[in-house]
Amino acid sequence: MKMESYDIIIAGAGPAGLTAAVELSKEFKVLLIEKHKPGTTNATWYSYADRAKEYGLDDAVAVRTDYIKFTSPSETHFMRDDCVIFDHNKVMEIWLNRARTNGVEIRQEDFLDYQNVENGIVVKTNKGKYSAPLLIDAMGINSKIVQKNDLIKRKDAWVIYGARVKNVDFEKPQQLEYYPLNDDANTYVGIHPVSNTETNFYLFKGEKNTLGNPEELKEKFEEVLKKTQPNAEKLETLSGTIVSGSLKKYALDNIIFFGSSGMLNPDGCGMGFNEILKKHRIFSAAISKAMKGNRLDQKNLEKVAEKLRDQEVIHFQKIIGAFSLYFIKSTSKWDGGVKWLNAMGDDSKNWMRNEMDLKWLKKANIRLHSSIPITETVKMIPLDELPFIMGQLVRFTHKALLSKIKEGVKLPSEVLKVLPGLPGLKSRETDE
Ligand SMILES: Cc1cc2nc3c(=O)[nH]c(=O)nc-3n(C[C@H](O)[C@H](O)[C@H](O)COP(=O)(O)OP(=O)(O)OC[C@H]3O[C@@H](n4cnc5c(N)ncnc54)[C@H](O)[C@@H]3O)c2cc1C
Repeated sequence: MKMESYDIIIAGAGPAGLTAAVELSKEFKVLLIEKHKPGTTNATWYSYADRAKEYGLDDAVAVRTDYIKFTSPSETHFMRDDCVIFDHNKVMEIWLNRARTNGVEIRQEDFLDYQNVENGIVVKTNKGKYSAPLLIDAMGINSKIVQKNDLIKRKDAWVIYGARVKNVDFEKPQQLEYYPLNDDANTYVGIHPVSNTETNFYLFKGEKNTLGNPEELKEKFEEVLKKTQPNAEKLETLSGTIVSGSLKKYALDNIIFFGSSGMLNPDGCGMGFNEILKKHRIFSAAISKAMKGNRLDQKNLEKVAEKLRDQEVIHFQKIIGAFSLYFIKSTSKWDGGVKWLNAMGDDSKNWMRNEMDLKWLKKANIRLHSSIPITETVKMIPLDELPFIMGQLVRFTHKALLSKIKEGVKLPSEVLKVLPGLPGLKSRETDE
């Protein structure tokens, strides 16, 4: 039997695979392989009004709200922003229709394996074999390609289990809300209202060095639902994992990762869907260039992946990520996290949006250091990040001391002796 060939094969039709397929099919012959019914998902997403508009998803908006509410035992923080909660089924339907209109060939098949051949890849599914010069792996966190090549270097995760429910009785059904369960189990409650009568209600748990298992939250979720919303009726299960981590390689010869398979979520933020929304056009444009220049070897494809990652920002994000996981260790630590968000004021929304530049990250980093004891910081940060963190602390201390001098505070002579020699002042001053 003749093997069918394409320009690009995309494995996985979640947000990453579908958005890349829609863009790339404008120029290339694309095959999209999905093992489940294409256009379905167990996830649910909130985003922002400007992004919904920019990416043509206004018709999929279920609810608009002007803040996200974080509650701790002692404080509340409202992150002011124009947020939208999507009807995830409508988002998937819109993308699937766009892909079909652009001529993407969509097959419901299970990707089993691949083989490198001259000038490309042969993909084997449960139903056949297909060839192309490029394979985009968008199979999410359990990608067979990532597993086969043992590519995961570091992984943390938010594990989620819940349901879309109706007949609920929340105080204000229109708010997007997060709060800790009243125990020390690292488990939190998320509420995404989708109408006056239906709400996405779920538990999420922060995991370190593991991808976790959403099913393990099932029992707890049923218990919480029964206790807090005794009349609720379950309509649809929501479950999955938001991963943040890094890979040993971001591409192989003729293969590149996009979405969760590439661990492209920023650390600690868990903005998977939003990241994909923001990056799929940059990614697709870079892929188009690589295709046209026939630069599909690992080295050149790694450059495409690098376009999605600014090394220094990633470095800072790792630190913020470590702190975020610290804040969810227990209810009292979550309290500290809410205090930190409050201290960031209006700026804190950039964190959830992942619209963080270096200046913002440095500011946030310094605030974090001032709210967590140094002994805790040292325990929390991986050894290879320590010099960087210490550098930040020295800069912070230096700046604080100088501002005291400017205020006319008389500093002890031991401090004045070392002050002029402290490193880093020049670069910090030019940063700001
Ligand atoms: C309940 C929940 C709430 C969330 N909330 C948010 C949010 O508010 N904001 C946000 O930004 N992110 C959120 N996320 C995270 C977001 O959903 C994910 O980051 C996003 O779905 C990742 O997209 P992806 O396409 O990379 O992977 P996935 O969505 O996992 O898609 C991978 C696809 O590949 C398919 N596949 C896997 N293996 C094979 C195979 N062998 N053959 C063929 N197909 C295969 C799968 O069936 C799947 O369709 C949430 C997730 C969950 C579960």
